[in-house]
Amino acid sequence: MPITLLDQNTINKIAAGEVVERPSSVVKELVENAIDAGATAITVEIKEGGISFIRVTDNGSGINKDEIEIAFKRHATSKIESIEDLMAVSSLGFRGEALASIAAVSQVELITKTADSLSGVRYTIDGGVPGEVAEIGAPEGTTFIVRNLFYNTPVRRKFLKTATTEGGYIGSLVEYLALSHPDISFRFISNNQNKLHTSGNMNLKDIIYNVYGRDITNNLYEISGKSQDIEASGFIGKPMVVRGNRTYENYYINGRYIKSSIITKAIEDAYKGFIMPHNYPFSAIHFKINPAIIDVNVHPTKMELRFSNNEYIYNFVYDTCLKALNSKELIAEVSVPD
Ligand code: ADP
Ligand code: MG
Repeated sequence: MPITLLDQNTINKIAAGEVVERPSSVVKELVENAIDAGATAITVEIKEGGISFIRVTDNGSGINKDEIEIAFKRHATSKIESIEDLMAVSSLGFRGEALASIAAVSQVELITKTADSLSGVRYTIDGGVPGEVAEIGAPEGTTFIVRNLFYNTPVRRKFLKTATTEGGYIGSLVEYLALSHPDISFRFISNNQNKLHTSGNMNLKDIIYNVYGRDITNNLYEISGKSQDIEASGFIGKPMVVRGNRTYENYYINGRYIKSSIITKAIEDAYKGFIMPHNYPFSAIHFKINPAIIDVNVHPTKMELRFSNNEYIYNFVYDTCLKALNSKELIAEVSVPD
């Protein structure tokens, strides 16, 4: 074959693999967009584990009618303008890849309305092939419907697990997202059943209760700490609240559910001496970290973060957790049990 440039649709389909691996990746991108749009209420609805149907509705800013088509182009973003902005990025998205990628491998319907437009608009894009932009009555905010994920990339579709498993991934993801944003009311509906509803009243403990139930909520220590470039607030479990895997370890950095091997290690090291080996603690901690010491441009899904000074981060997290454990556990030892 002669060397030719791939057409944009093929490029999008190939690149989609980096952003959209499974239905939960679609939900993650759409909900992050809703959060970035300033939504205070977000509903996620799925059918068949999200494989046949995902609907994400928000009450955020909406998208301008004349910006809809460009929003679906690769590297189209309203969130940064130059590479310098990346250093201080505080929005969840910034790569402008999600909508182009999702639309390349599914059938997307969008209904959106901004505050200053008189009517809403509906737009469809099918396997990357754009349809019409039409006026329609709609409430303020945005609804994305994503149907039949990977219908045009059968090999990827084959790699999906069962609807139950895929739906389970989405359920956990929505829990993490709800915990990461106590200021937003989240609703999760799967196959017409209500699975989660948080109030958006800013109270992290209420969300822990919604997600994990009473036993865990009653066995938490509140933690807080502050240093020059980092602040922590939230809850960690008493040493009796443990699991044989890391699924209880939640933390959020500048509103993102994200992993950092440094932070994970610091939390676990603080619990050494309090819990048995191969047990893992409960945590739900919000970190505010100066964006200047974070490199977020590591991977498209932005799940693993790098810091410019690992030791500083490690020491802060370790000390903050240990302080809470030490003071509380020592008081517990000398006080009369109730
Ligand atoms: P990114 O989030 O990296 O900017 P996306 O492809 O996810 O890229 O979205 C492209 C653009 O579409 C965003 O920058 C934003 O301007 C707009 N957008 C997407 N979803 C929403 C939404 N729910 N509400 C308002 N604007 C949105
Ligand atoms: Mg985005």
